[in-house]
Amino acid sequence: MRKIKAITFDLDETLWSNGPVIERADKALHQWLQEKYPLVCERYSIEDLRVLLEEVRLGDISDKHDRARVRQEMYRRAGEAVGYGDEFSLEAYSEWQHHRHQIEFFEEVTESLERLSKKYILAALTNGTAEIHRLGLDTYLSFYISPSIAGAAKPERKIFEYTCSQLGLSPEEIVHVGDHPDEDMRGAQEAGLRTVWMNRFDLTWDHSVTPDAMITDLRQLERLLEEWENNTQQVA
Ligand SMILES: [Mg+2]
Repeated sequence: MRKIKAITFDLDETLWSNGPVIERADKALHQWLQEKYPLVCERYSIEDLRVLLEEVRLGDISDKHDRARVRQEMYRRAGEAVGYGDEFSLEAYSEWQHHRHQIEFFEEVTESLERLSKKYILAALTNGTAEIHRLGLDTYLSFYISPSIAGAAKPERKIFEYTCSQLGLSPEEIVHVGDHPDEDMRGAQEAGLRTVWMNRFDLTWDHSVTPDAMITDLRQLERLLEEWENNTQQVA
């Protein structure tokens, strides 16, 4: 086993519970629309905008791996349908992004990241739209890799290869931590990274690939990495 030098973290559902964040952001945006762009509200309920988002995601736009772009395109189409111009979609997206960053980390996250950052290179590897500098996470994470930057989304091999090249490390020197069986675990494993499944919600694993380990919080990750480190030293 190679010594682990870096940890890449999925963000949504790994460092915070994201479902409620998106729920609140969608509601807050709709309230904002009522005041500033009422025609969109009259035409589209919160649910209608979600359906439109899914339509855009499944449609034929380019760069559909980039969720920021998909959401902007959704607002553009909603605005266009009621006669608003492009500035509407930019403004709506920026407003939604503001609310999307109103998150609360799982309780151990910042302390664990601080400790881990003293021993390992830490990176964010996300398919989502959260930006680490808006959350203060850039204090601990030195790299931020998203589909819009890498030109591909997890589980595609390309985004993991891009990550390795950015970090200047081989895949075996990196462990990826994430909650998603396919995007995080299968994707990272197929690219040769070590994999740790973050199981915050007590789920059962019933997928084809087997992660190298399962944890329920980052304190367990710290202990796991110590164990791996000891094993590596014994082998060496
Ligand atoms: Mg996730």
